[in-house]
Amino acid sequence: MKPILPGSKIGVLGSGQLGRMFAISARRMGYRVHTYSPDRDSPTGQIADVEVDAAYEDLDRVREFAAAVDVVTFEFENVPAATADTAAQVARVRPAGDVLHTTQHRLREKTFLQQHGFPVTRFQAIRSQNDLAGTFGPGILKTAGFGYDGKGQYRVNSPAEALAAWESMGRQEAVLEAVVDFQAELSIVGVRSDAGDCVFYAPSANAHVAGILDVSSAPVPFPASVAREATEIARGILEALNVTGVLCVEFFLTRDHKLLVNELAPRPHNSGHLTIDACVTSQFEQQLRAVCGLPLGGTEMLRPAAMANLLGEVWSKGEPNWPLALALPELKLHLYGKTEARSGRKMGHLTATAATAAQAEQLVRAARARL
Ligand code: ADP
Ligand code: MG
Repeated sequence: MKPILPGSKIGVLGSGQLGRMFAISARRMGYRVHTYSPDRDSPTGQIADVEVDAAYEDLDRVREFAAAVDVVTFEFENVPAATADTAAQVARVRPAGDVLHTTQHRLREKTFLQQHGFPVTRFQAIRSQNDLAGTFGPGILKTAGFGYDGKGQYRVNSPAEALAAWESMGRQEAVLEAVVDFQAELSIVGVRSDAGDCVFYAPSANAHVAGILDVSSAPVPFPASVAREATEIARGILEALNVTGVLCVEFFLTRDHKLLVNELAPRPHNSGHLTIDACVTSQFEQQLRAVCGLPLGGTEMLRPAAMANLLGEVWSKGEPNWPLALALPELKLHLYGKTEARSGRKMGHLTATAATAAQAEQLVRAARARL
């Protein structure tokens, strides 16, 4: 592939914070950024050269958008397949649309992983009431499509509870998963170039609150063999999916030290935000390099780091006390330009670097507490 050089135009489908941080990287390297979503003055649009505000289903606008740029990528994996296909008729789309198709649907994703021999949580497809019959231990019912940040998920302990939950989601296609009694959650961000080269970041340890990522830190406090195994699983998935771009693999580490793949994200991931402040190359610059056919950057971590999300709740008592948190010199503030601080909405994050991941985590939690 002939590289797409600085000065070229990159189209981003979606306009949230992932697109914003991608656009910041791209503009720093001299690229132009166009973003497409149904929103205006969006996190990405505030940084982009051009913000197209139109429905994903408006395929004429999608075609026009794609024709104006040199490559199209996405920051939002729930872009409808028809949107990605239409863009692909007139522009190069990276990662390719079938990556999106597989990973935007939990059943397709899990089936793909299982068929390729990757370790996954025990699951069952739910398409009719019969699929819910029989007894099982504690489970989590998740909608097959359009889930994120723990939305569309229900803990269930019996077939009756599972049925009630499935009815409350309008009997849509779903997946019922066994609850994993994990010792930790971790994730790894991998990048694959058009030529098939792969690089990986050090895995992050992730703590969730109410199904939403709360704090990530790296490097992880587990034996090196765990990080090696996670890397090899991620490499296998990047290759099996034939990804050009960034892919994050979320894992559960079980109490008997086994890794199970929880889910995939075919794009930069919240747990990789600390790469901006802690690594030679950020996950967003890697996305740019990969989709432009440039060599990938170094993933080395310069210093242990931790990231804490800032959800809308942080604004509940008015404007947070930014100067007090920023008085900690190791601290970096990232805000996404969202004007409305709704509960559970990702508004920004803090990153701290320190001598150890545990110290970085302490710092970032202390800084957030000051807000
Ligand atoms: P999302 O797309 O919302 O990130 P996930 O499937 O990753 O959906 O679920 C969000 C979080 O809920 C996970 O990171 C984990 O903390 C918890 N969770 C999800 N599935 C399971 C499971 N099978 N067992 C235990 N915890 C789970
Ligand atoms: Mg997840």
